[in-house]
Formats: sequence, structure tokens, C-alpha cells
Amino acid sequence: MGNRLGDIVTALAAHGRGLPHGTCPYVGIGGHAVYGGFGFTSKLWGLTIDTIQSIDLVLANGTITSASEKLNPDLFFAMRGAGSSFGIATAITVKTFPAPPTATIFSYNWQLTASIRRTDRSLSSTSMKVCECISTTRCTHAS
Ligand SMILES: Cc1cc2nc3c(=O)[nH]c(=O)nc-3n(C[C@H](O)[C@H](O)[C@H](O)COP(=O)(O)OP(=O)(O)OC[C@H]3O[C@@H](n4cnc5c(N)ncnc54)[C@H](O)[C@@H]3O)c2cc1C
Repeated sequence: MGNRLGDIVTALAAHGRGLPHGTCPYVGIGGHAVYGGFGFTSKLWGLTIDTIQSIDLVLANGTITSASEKLNPDLFFAMRGAGSSFGIATAITVKTFPAPPTATIFSYNWQLTASIRRTDRSLSSTSMKVCECISTTRCTHAS
């Protein structure tokens, strides 16, 4: 906990491992791991919360405990989607995956031109640029 996604996945990639996560490297794993974590690899690996095996946490009354499928399973279920309503996660154990040997980054652009007459005015040259990328570690495209 306390790390950002970019640092985590970079460290994992150095060991040939990957984790499903969102697209912004500056998002913290804390909020990400208690609410979801949807990203480029989610169709393959699921959400970040799907990878969590166990969570160490502090409850509102100060109790330090852990949750997993076998230990406090109700709390484990609640933490993976509504975490901050139930406790503060201090550590998570996650399942990782073999990182793909390569990643493909692609973009596609198109020009839309519309001529719409409204009284004496016309609207033309509406352009749109859509960029999309796939990366296991970072997103370098913008706009
Ligand atoms: C630029 C940007 C891009 C994003 N892209 C994606 C994306 O691609 N996919 C996706 O799924 N989401 C995405 N998100 C959403 C992001 O995953 C959530 O906003 C996430 O909750 C942020 O977590 P944080 O720790 O950085 O933020 P914070 O604001 O610190 O925390 C968010 C919430 O989580 C709680 N929280 C934080 N740490 C803990 C903890 N240790 N224990 C319990 N509760 C905790 C906080 O109390 C707060 O309620 C994006 C957000 C941003 C700002």
C-alpha cells in the first residue's frame, strides 16, 4: 500500500509478471484495490480486485485484522468493491500473471466533416481524434 500503479507494474514487469490495473500510472494502489481496477488487460485478467488473495486492514474501532476467502470472508467480499467503507487496507497479497513478451500500442484517427446549415450559419470541419493504446505498463497517448 502507498505505492502508485506505475511503480508497481514497473517492478512487476522487471520480474516478468503483470497485474490487471487501470491506465493511469499515478493512481494509488490503495483506492484502486478497494474499488476495482479496470484497464487494458482486464478482458484477459479481470480487475485488480479479482487478483487479491488476502488483505491486511485496520477496522474503524482500531482492530488490526486480515481477510481472505477463508478468514473473515464477508469482510473480504466487502473490501473488494467498497473497501473504504469497511477498513483501511495496509497490505494486499495479489495473484500476478506472466507478462506478455510484447505489447501493442496503436491509434486510429479520422476526420469528420459536417456541413449543417442553420439559418445563415454553417457548421463545418468537425474533427475528432481518438487515440487508444494498449500497454501492460503505461499509457503514453493523450487526447
Ligand atoms: C487520472 C485517473 C485515471 C484513472 N483511470 C482508471 C482506470 O483506467 N481504471 C480504473 O479502474 N480506475 C481508474 N481511475 C479511478 C481510480 O482507480 C480511483 O479513483 C481510485 O479509487 C484512486 O485511488 P487513489 O488511492 O489514487 O485515490 P484516493 O483519492 O487516495 O482514494 C480513493 C478512495 O479510496 C480510498 N482508499 C485509498 N486507499 C485506501 C486504503 N488503503 N484502504 C481503504 N480505502 C482506501 C479512499 O478513502 C478514497 O475513498 C482513474 C483515476 C484517475 C484520477
